[in-house]
Amino acid sequence: MKLIDGKQVAESVKERLKAEVAKLKENGVHPCLAVILAGNDPASQVYVKNKIKTAEELGIKSLSFTFDESVTEEQLIEVIETLNADATVHGILVQLPLPKGLNEERVLKSISDEKDVDGFSAYNMGQLVLGREGFVPCTPLGVIELLKSTGEEISGKRAVIIGRSNIVGKPLALLLLKENATVTVCHTKTKNLKEVSKEADILVAAVGRAKMVTDDMVKDGAIVIDVGINRVDGKLCGDVDFDNVKEKCSYITPVPGGVGPMTIAMLMNNTVLSAKRSAK
Ligand code: NDP
Repeated sequence: MKLIDGKQVAESVKERLKAEVAKLKENGVHPCLAVILAGNDPASQVYVKNKIKTAEELGIKSLSFTFDESVTEEQLIEVIETLNADATVHGILVQLPLPKGLNEERVLKSISDEKDVDGFSAYNMGQLVLGREGFVPCTPLGVIELLKSTGEEISGKRAVIIGRSNIVGKPLALLLLKENATVTVCHTKTKNLKEVSKEADILVAAVGRAKMVTDDMVKDGAIVIDVGINRVDGKLCGDVDFDNVKEKCSYITPVPGGVGPMTIAMLMNNTVLSAKRSAK
């Protein structure tokens, strides 16, 4: 079994981006990411802090807007519309979840498609479905980078994704299809999950259930990517029972240190991409 080191792969993506940011700056474009945080969810605060820190490491300018629980949809939309109109801002990110009572869809919808670096908008999702240029959600994009880092061919492989959310499972299915994998997406209504997952050359778990993927669900020599982030007795763990599965697979990602670091790196990738597009 070989470990796929997400931290290392993320570092090499960041090195590439650092050079691209420097080049853009030489040409008078300073990539800029605006991050909006509402409420005081501790996990969201950590995520936002990490995103801002990473942006700064790469020379990307970051703007941070924080609001307390009592913020209204209108106030958030007003800030977003100002950022939409500001040509020096290339990416706008609203950290989810928003405080209870706020309509996330309405708030996210107000982000201009050209600055939707999370790739969540209907337009960007549609572009992904059609195989056209847009922004691809960061976590699935990171999973593809991790798979490519192994040097193994994706084309022709049987890929099984457990989870069909709009932010991970669904877009990942489209990306794997684009890479010419044969893709199956599983969910709570899937019958005989074990039999299906055992057919996978590439198995991705994006479920949110601690250690649910066990060795009897994994084919010998499979590549296993664990997207899950779960907290058990205060400790982080994935959707894959790592110790139980590791000897069965050819490659596996750890949690933490697998997909997580890639999500932030790909957010930076999308911000730089947006800056490049604006410079054209
Ligand atoms: P969602 O809760 O939106 O989706 C979970 C999916 O898993 C659903 O499609 C659900 O099926 C399916 N599912 C749940 N239980 C089972 C089961 N027993 N058998 C088969 N399928 C099941 O989660 P997300 O996609 O947002 O996130 C998934 C995990 O990835 C979470 O742990 C999250 O924290 C983590 N995550 C990690 C990121 C990172 O950067 N590493 C980024 C984003 C998420 P159904 O549709 O039928 O309900």
